[in-house]
Amino acid sequence: MVEQPPAGAPQLVVVGSIALDDIETPWERHSSVLGGSATYGAIAAALFCRVGLVGVVGEDFPSSAITLLRNKGVDLSGLEVRSGKTFRWQGRYSENMDERCTLCTELNVFADFEPQIPQNYRSVEFLFLANIAPSLQLRVLDQIAGAEFVAADTMDLWINTALADLKQVLKRLDLVTLNESEIRQLTGERSLRRAAAAVRAMGPPMVLVKKGESGSVLFSRDQVAFIPAYPLEEVRDPTGAGDSFAGALMGWMAAERKSGFTAMWHGALVGSSAASFAVERFGADALAEVTPEMVLGRRDQLLAMTCPDYVKA
Ligand code: AMP
Repeated sequence: MVEQPPAGAPQLVVVGSIALDDIETPWERHSSVLGGSATYGAIAAALFCRVGLVGVVGEDFPSSAITLLRNKGVDLSGLEVRSGKTFRWQGRYSENMDERCTLCTELNVFADFEPQIPQNYRSVEFLFLANIAPSLQLRVLDQIAGAEFVAADTMDLWINTALADLKQVLKRLDLVTLNESEIRQLTGERSLRRAAAAVRAMGPPMVLVKKGESGSVLFSRDQVAFIPAYPLEEVRDPTGAGDSFAGALMGWMAAERKSGFTAMWHGALVGSSAASFAVERFGADALAEVTPEMVLGRRDQLLAMTCPDYVKA
């Protein structure tokens, strides 16, 4: 019989940024919205499993956001509240919403954050290192050395400024998620198939390449899977799409307690659906209004769109 995790202990630990974002699209501008890679990741994962969050916020972090995470069932014993300001990110999207530029990143309380992993997180089986400095991802990995399945996300900033640490992280992963431009930047390969092979040679046996509204592709040594993106009429704010995708994928896998390619493929379909809800509105608090039934409903629609004979079980 498979040993069950202790009652109440997280099934998945998520580490990453917890942020206040200022976001501009060609049509709208919103400031100090709830954001951060771990925030989106944890809210999406909590749709399916018990999540423990690791991160830090400043005194300016709204108590309503803490309440929101708590109400989603996220364990906050790994969340530190420190004197100083919360991580802030400012981004602007281009006309077609496909590209964005970072206008400003203020690490603030994250600059010298030393994560202390709570005792009840340490035996967790699933770990998601959402986008944050790779040195910090490494410190978390050192404290949760026995996780059965570890996934990580990263971004161009760390490929440019912290490549040595990022390569150390890659060696310790089961799955890495990268977008098209990041994987080409990391490997110098144009072909995604070659790029995925090059990343696999750096450590993770599985690589998920995100291609925005064109969906994503999952690569292992001998398998390739396509995951469509849900075709929305309107994308209002692409922020957090990747984090919600990976969060829901990991939450699904942790709930199922399965870590093979097929489980990941199923999880990625759920992740794609979760990401589609994240981009319809601004901020991670909007994602908190989404239910597991809504996510699974869109996942079923995705399947029906992909296969003419698909009949919902
Ligand atoms: P995504 O759109 O999935 O890439 O994630 C967007 C989130 O990442 C935003 O809510 C930001 O607060 C957060 N973010 C932006 N830059 C960084 C960074 N350098 N490190 C960690 N998180 C970041």
